[in-house]
This record gives sequence, structure tokens and C-alpha cells, in this order.
Amino acid sequence: MNVPAIAKQTFERLKSNPFYLAISQSILSHIEKIHNSREKARFLHNAVDEYNQEVFSHPLLKALVPCRAGCTACCHTQVSTTYEEALLLSDYINEGMEIDLNRLKLQSDQGQDADSYFKLSFQDRKCVFLSEEGSCRVYHDRPMVCRTNAVVGDSKQCDTRFNESSQLRLVKTEKADMAIVSAYLASQESGTLPSMLFKILKEKHHREKPTKKFSLRNLISKSL
Ligand code: SF4
Repeated sequence: MNVPAIAKQTFERLKSNPFYLAISQSILSHIEKIHNSREKARFLHNAVDEYNQEVFSHPLLKALVPCRAGCTACCHTQVSTTYEEALLLSDYINEGMEIDLNRLKLQSDQGQDADSYFKLSFQDRKCVFLSEEGSCRVYHDRPMVCRTNAVVGDSKQCDTRFNESSQLRLVKTEKADMAIVSAYLASQESGTLPSMLFKILKEKHHREKPTKKFSLRNLISKSL
């Protein structure tokens, strides 16, 4: 289990608070009743969006948060997903979305090691779903952490081109964080987006007989 660091810190801080603990327990009991992995991920995305809506709709916060479409700093960091979220992302590729598979493999090879990930060049750290124009191509199904992390103040603090990262002043998204921890506890597996996605694509490759064109096959075959 690889619970995202920020959500984990929130959980550790608030787990003895009955109000916040009840959020985690309620989310857990809901997801236990959902047996379809994709539905589970979508339920959690909706829950996280609702909790975040309470926070991000505050007028004062709107003025203080610099996160905007086209700012892609956090899409060059090591993002975590649950297995169920990665399954949703793999559907885009299986349905024909092209991604840079060499970059995905390179990122996946860094495993869970953030130090190793941040030694990659800025370009190699770029999420495979980030478009040339700086938009998320899987926005509707982006992972919970992509929905939650937002900074207060100057967006330059997120720029990891030259430093791994400075001390970020993040918006407190406590309810969403409690839900995220439950999601990771209940997930069959979790890890970085590249490693989870690459694993799922590789498993699909093993299950299916080779067909004509999928270039993923060559890349995966070479990596076995
Ligand atoms: S999934 Fe989308 S929002 Fe998340 S890191 Fe990738 S491009 Fe950015």
C-alpha cells in the first residue's frame, strides 16, 4: 500500500477525531459494497470532488490559489494511483489514445523511489497524459491526488525544473484526504501512476494473443 504522503499526514493527524474518522469509515463501508473496480474508482472520484468543492468554492481561496489550466508543474511530479484508478487510465490507451510508452517505462522503472524519479530530466518526468498544450487528456478520470493538491500563493513554489521541490503551502483538503486514505486501504494495489499503469498494460499483453498493430507489444516484450 502506497498511501500518498499528504493524505497520510492528514490521516495521522486526524484519525483520533471522531468527525474525520467517520468520513474514512463511511467511505470504506461504501466501497466495500461496490464490486466493479471502475465503478469503485468513479465513486471515489465523485466523493473527493464533493469534498474538494466545499473547500475550493470559498471566494477567498479562489483568490489565493494560483492553480490554473495550463500550469503543469504538478504533472511533472511522481503521482500516485490505486489499481482501480490506473485501470480507468488504461482504458484510454486500450481505446486508442497514444502515449509515449518509452517515457512511461522509464518512469515506471523508477518504482516508488521519489529521489530516483526526480533525477530524471524535467521532460522525462512529464506525465504521459499531459498534452503538448498543457492540458490533462484524462481529466475526467484523473487520479484523486490530481484532483486534490493545490497550492496557496505563488505557483513558482511548485516548479521542480531546478529543485525537487520547495516547501509547498498546500490547501488543506482534510475530508478528501481521509477519503483518499480509505481508497488506498481498500484498493487491491497501489503505487505510482507509471508503475501501476505499465503493470496493467503488461498484464493485458500477457492475456491477449498478439494482434496487428499495438506498438506497446514491442516495448513490453523487450522489457520482459
Ligand atoms: S493524470 Fe492529468 S492531472 Fe494527473 S499528472 Fe497526469 S496530466 Fe496531470
